[in-house]
Order: sequence, then C-alpha cells, then structure tokens
Amino acid sequence: MKRIFPAFTYGEGPRQGCWWDETCAIPARPTISEPASADVVVIGGGFTGLSAALHLARKGARVHVFEAKRIGWGASGRNGGFCCLGGAKADDRFLDRKFGKSGRLEWRAAEKAAVDLVGSILTAEKISADRHSRGETALAHRPRDMKSLEAGAASVRENYGVEPALFFRADLADQGMSGPFHGAMTIPIGFGLNPAKYLAGLAAAAERAGALIFDSSPVRSIEKAAGGYRLCVGDVRVTANQVVVATNGYSSEDIPGWLTARFLPTQSNVLVTRPLTDKELSDQGWTSDQMSYDTRNLLHYFRLMPDQRFLFGMRGGVFSGPGAEQKARRAVRRDFEQMFPAWAHAESQNSWSGLVSLARSRMPFAGAVPGSPGMWAGLCYHGNGVAMGTLTGSILASLVSGEQPACYPKAMRTPPGKFPLGAARRLLVLPLYAGLRLKDL
Ligand SMILES: Cc1cc2nc3c(=O)[nH]c(=O)nc-3n(C[C@H](O)[C@H](O)[C@H](O)COP(=O)(O)OP(=O)(O)OC[C@H]3O[C@@H](n4cnc5c(N)ncnc54)[C@H](O)[C@@H]3O)c2cc1C
Repeated sequence: MKRIFPAFTYGEGPRQGCWWDETCAIPARPTISEPASADVVVIGGGFTGLSAALHLARKGARVHVFEAKRIGWGASGRNGGFCCLGGAKADDRFLDRKFGKSGRLEWRAAEKAAVDLVGSILTAEKISADRHSRGETALAHRPRDMKSLEAGAASVRENYGVEPALFFRADLADQGMSGPFHGAMTIPIGFGLNPAKYLAGLAAAAERAGALIFDSSPVRSIEKAAGGYRLCVGDVRVTANQVVVATNGYSSEDIPGWLTARFLPTQSNVLVTRPLTDKELSDQGWTSDQMSYDTRNLLHYFRLMPDQRFLFGMRGGVFSGPGAEQKARRAVRRDFEQMFPAWAHAESQNSWSGLVSLARSRMPFAGAVPGSPGMWAGLCYHGNGVAMGTLTGSILASLVSGEQPACYPKAMRTPPGKFPLGAARRLLVLPLYAGLRLKDL
C-alpha cells in the first residue's frame, strides 16, 4: 500500500492512549485464510464499511468485510464521539453557489438524516453507547462571533427545520458553560456517544444480518476479472461481483489506483481527563453535558461525558513521527489548560491522534468509482464522519443493490478531484492552517 504519511502514522504510536480501548473490548475477528467469493467485498472496518455491510446484508447480499488491522482501528474507533451535523467544509454561500438553494437544502437534510440514522441503528440493534447531550452547542470565541451566531439562527431554521437556542454571555453560567466565551447557540440535533461501543454494536449487527468480518486482512491488490473483481487479501485470493472502498483517511494511493491524490488526510488530536469531581466542575463553572465546540476555524471540540471525564480535541500537527506526536499532544493539553484553567491540575493520561480526510471539492463523496463498473467508494467527511460515514455506508449499500438511495443529495455525487503536489500534498495544510490561525485572532 502506497501512503503519503510515514509508516509511524499507520502504526500503533498515534493510537496509544486511546480512551475508548479501555471502555469496550471489541472482540477480534478471524483472519481470512482460505480463498473465498462474495457478492460484495467491503474494504475497511470503520463506520462506513460496517454500515455498508449491515445494510447490504439486510438486503440479502453475501458480504465480506476486510479490515487491514482490527475493526475500529482507524478513525472510527478513536474519534471524539460527536454524532453531529456536518461532513462538508462548506458554508451556505458556497453550497448555494455550487448546488443552488434546493441542492443546499437537500444536503442539509442529509446531515440531519445521518444523525437520525445512527439514532435508529442504536435503538433497533439495542446498542448501548453512553449517549448524552441534546444537540450541539457552538460557543463564540469573540464578541463578533456571537453576532454571527445570532445572524445564523434564521439559516438554521431554514436548513434543518429546528429552532436554535441562543445564550448570551451573561446566560452561560446558568447553562453550566462558563469559560472564555461570548455566548452560544445550540442546535437541537445530534448527541455524544462512545464510538467504540457504537462500532462494536454496528459490527455485531452486520454479523447477525449475515455479513462476515475479517481482521488482519489487508487488501493488497484489486484486479478486474470476469463478472467482477479478483482481490489479493493478505496472501489469499478472493473474488467478488462488487467492491466497496471504505478506507477514508487511512486510504492508500493504490487500493484502488483511482484514489491517488483524491483525498487529503490530516491529523486530529484528542485528550480525555480523569473523572472530574463535582467540586472541580463547579470551580470551572462547566457542568453541562452538551457536546460543544468553539467558533474558531481551527476549532476545539469538547464534552463532559457521563462518567465526568472531559474530552477535548482539536486539529493535529502537519508532521507525523514520535517527536511530532508528542508535540501535538502537548499542544492539545496547552489549549485545554488555557480554556479550562481550573482543571490545569487534572491529569489526562489518555491522549491520541488519528487521520481525518478532506476533499478538494469540500464535499464528501458516495458513489461509483469512475471507469471501474461495480466498484464504489465513500469518503472525505472533513472530520465529521460518525453520522455521515454511517449514512454513506447505507447509500453505498443501495447503489450496490441497484436501488435509488432514500437520501442521496446531489452534492455528494461528484467524484473528488485531484489535489496538486501528489504525495507531498499534505504540506498544503501549512499555508491553510497559517491563514485560518490569522482569521481566528
Ligand atoms: C481524533 C479524531 C477525532 C474525530 N472526532 C470526530 C467526531 O467527534 N465526530 C465525527 O463525526 N467525526 C469525528 N472524526 C472523524 C470520524 O472518526 C471519521 O470521519 C470516520 O470514523 C470515518 O470512518 P470510515 O469508516 O470511513 O474510516 P475509518 O474509520 O478511518 O476506517 C478505515 C479503515 O480502513 C482500513 N484500511 C485501509 N486500507 C485498507 C486495506 N487496503 N485493506 C483493508 N483495510 C484497510 C483501515 O485500517 C481503517 O480501519 C474524528 C476523527 C479523528 C481521527
């Protein structure tokens, strides 16, 4: 597999310290050891791949999921657990220009449908995933951002058909949201969850529906064959009528070759504190269990979890390696202490990082791989893939089955274009981050 970060990024180093691993033992799946054939092979055992497998198996397809490491090893087992709106890096103006108002509203409806889909899977499959929070709260980091939040309330109503709640600076203490914030807006859509518990439940549901899931089974090559594809998985030959590529930020440039330069993996970092006492919470004035983020372009996201541990995340570094990883972990800790100074003494043994994926089009993609009939891909959720990855998996399952997906906005249908700079493209984020940092001042 040809990849654009150093080997360290795809090893255990960045993952070490992931809190979710301590909360949920995901049973290991077998490794593929004998030649096999399937209706559909799914590559990648994260939310996208497992959702595709669940929905395909429910339709009666013989599905094999191949995961290079272990299911949830990628971003799906190490994210912030915000099951929220999002998935694109595009505001209303951009969406209107590109897709028209109806295209924008169709996309916004899909964001909401994605959250609802996760909620319905949790309920239908009886997955207990430590849900909390009534929607998501944006906190203004400057006075003028509160004005923008106020001005944005009308488009929240139009986009999502819900009433947002505005809180001015003086109201925040009553909301248990004290901090360096100038007000807030809550959109009552979304909830926090334990991503490992959701992932474990999703995998079990896919298996109950008939899918076979294999760990330690990297797909090394894909070739066109009569009636479908021939794959080399580890050392084993597998044939399939159709293939779903669900590898997102952990994609390679060559599985399949079409992916070359079409996604930009970037790093995101998270820390989790030890459980905070009631006194520590009231000392900081933060007692809310709302999942929250600040209004920076390079935003911080945070939530007080049901066990009173505090999760805090932000963008990671540009470089990757043992030294860069430690530096990125120190940066998260520094920002956490600045934002929540009363907790500066509270240890955070759990700290880790992982890859999210951006598209040049700023939109996620779900659809056919051009020039490869029977091959499908879903990727590029711009750091918001808990809900959108799940929806994408269900869209791909419908497409594979020759059905029109119930929710498939036009905005997600254009295959991602190539980034410039080839394998060096991750350096593009250097000027991007510098510009966004200036905008956030
Ligand atoms: C630190 C961090 C915090 C985040 N926080 C949030 C959040 O709070 N809310 C939110 O919505 N999103 C969040 N995200 C993003 C979200 O986790 C991802 O968008 C989502 O998990 C992507 O799911 P996926 O299944 O498409 O990809 P992944 O979960 O990354 O899975 C891809 C899998 O493919 C496997 N793979 C790759 N190549 C091969 C191959 N050749 N053969 C077999 N297997 C292969 C990999 O091993 C990997 O397990 C976060 C991401 C990170 C890293």
